[in-house]
Amino acid sequence: MSDGERPPGDEAAELARLEEAVRAVLPALEAFNRFEGADQAARRRPSWQARLDLPLPSEGLGLDAVVEELTRSAIPYGVRTGAPGFCGWVTTAPTTAGVVATLAATVAGSQRYFTQPFNLLEALGLRWLAELVGLPATFQGVFGSGGSMANLIALGAARQSAFERIGHDPSADGVPAGVQTRIYASRQVHHVVKRAAAVLGLGRRSVVLVDVDDDHRIDLVALRQVLDDDIRRGILPVALVASAGTVDTGAVDPLAAMADMAAERGVWLHVDGAYGLFGVLDPSVAGLFDGLDRADSVAVDPHKWLAVPIGCGATFVRDPALLERAFTLEPAGYLARPPVDPADGPPASPFADIGERFLDFGIEQSAPSRGVLVWAALLEIGASGMRARVQRHIAFARRVTALASADESLEVMAPPSLSIACFRYRRPGLTEDQLEDLNQRVVSRLWADSVYVPSTTRLDGRLAIRCCFINPRTTWADVDGLVAAVRRAGDALLGGE
Ligand SMILES: *Cc1c(COP(=O)(O)O)cnc(C)c1O
Repeated sequence: MSDGERPPGDEAAELARLEEAVRAVLPALEAFNRFEGADQAARRRPSWQARLDLPLPSEGLGLDAVVEELTRSAIPYGVRTGAPGFCGWVTTAPTTAGVVATLAATVAGSQRYFTQPFNLLEALGLRWLAELVGLPATFQGVFGSGGSMANLIALGAARQSAFERIGHDPSADGVPAGVQTRIYASRQVHHVVKRAAAVLGLGRRSVVLVDVDDDHRIDLVALRQVLDDDIRRGILPVALVASAGTVDTGAVDPLAAMADMAAERGVWLHVDGAYGLFGVLDPSVAGLFDGLDRADSVAVDPHKWLAVPIGCGATFVRDPALLERAFTLEPAGYLARPPVDPADGPPASPFADIGERFLDFGIEQSAPSRGVLVWAALLEIGASGMRARVQRHIAFARRVTALASADESLEVMAPPSLSIACFRYRRPGLTEDQLEDLNQRVVSRLWADSVYVPSTTRLDGRLAIRCCFINPRTTWADVDGLVAAVRRAGDALLGGE
């Protein structure tokens, strides 16, 4: 559209030409997704930074310049977390369904409210998720940006519950002085739980980190002891946090036993399944999740194993009214609308009804449609497709472990529970310090010179090479290739190459 067709006085932003712009970036996106050649993002930083890092332009350069710079300077150097050899941390890139759903929602579902499909899909995405992992449909779900927010919302509900029991409304009145609170979790819990405690006014130090057993699961004896000691001392327990898939090893805390312990003492049970909850789909490990349906709240990240675009986590809370008391936005004049009388038939305007009121169940008002991402991913592959993915990834972790235990130059550092494998290169006669240094250098070499990107972690004070399989593009050949590459890199480093 030429500027002449714009309403007079309009700003310079293009309001049309969507098809043209999307078509123009698509070849670069398709090329990116082939992950060909070495990853040049770090090596060529000076060149793309020089093109992108400009002073604020006083005059705009127009949409064509935006498309040009995206295509030339940004997309080719984007982060390759979807490359088949990438198995670091707990992240991956989206599959096509999530990408196209994002585009659709950005354009047509720019808010998750009102009488429109993206409001329905927000609720439907939550319903499908709950059903997929075996949570009762009566739980109130809400989407947020990821596991950080999902845990914060869940623990906000836990805080509400704990203080209401002692006749106090923390949402309305704040956290009262003089009440000591505690949240109990294993040493392997994700640090976002501590941050949530900080944000909720309970304090990072209120999170008690309980020892783990040999399988990196919370030690129930130690948990019971500290919990009961604290209760005797008049401390208010806010929640037991069970990790359903720790990020270090994929360990799943004993949910049923923790549910018993929580129920006997009237304490909230929260399950952080941000990474691992989808593991329940694999019958060979589903038993680890027994007791999940007894949780008071659950966090899960579709943007991890379900491989939808980043920015999609979900919280489920057993008691919807409690969640609403914790997070209600309260009625606001500018959001009010005339009452809808169903007897009048369907309203003529989609804006007559806000639809499912997600704004009262979390900490965002305006928010993108996220249910559509989950809906799209599950509509495409169904529960069976997701089950096959999870089973394959769990089998990958077992394969890495089998290969490592069969190779005298490799050592398994933790048996896999889900889709995370931890191992290292070893050589008799090397000290722990030398092994640490060697394995760090093995990983650096893999990052620099191979297609494989595992990460590392520390287990019982020792450095482990860690691969977490949630990437839908990873194949069996990549799994074997990764282990072989670790072996080669270790050999080469010791051989002085
Ligand atoms: C990833 C993860 C988080 C944090 O989630 P984000 O989506 O990165 O905010 C919390 N807990 C666990 C167990 C995780 O795997």
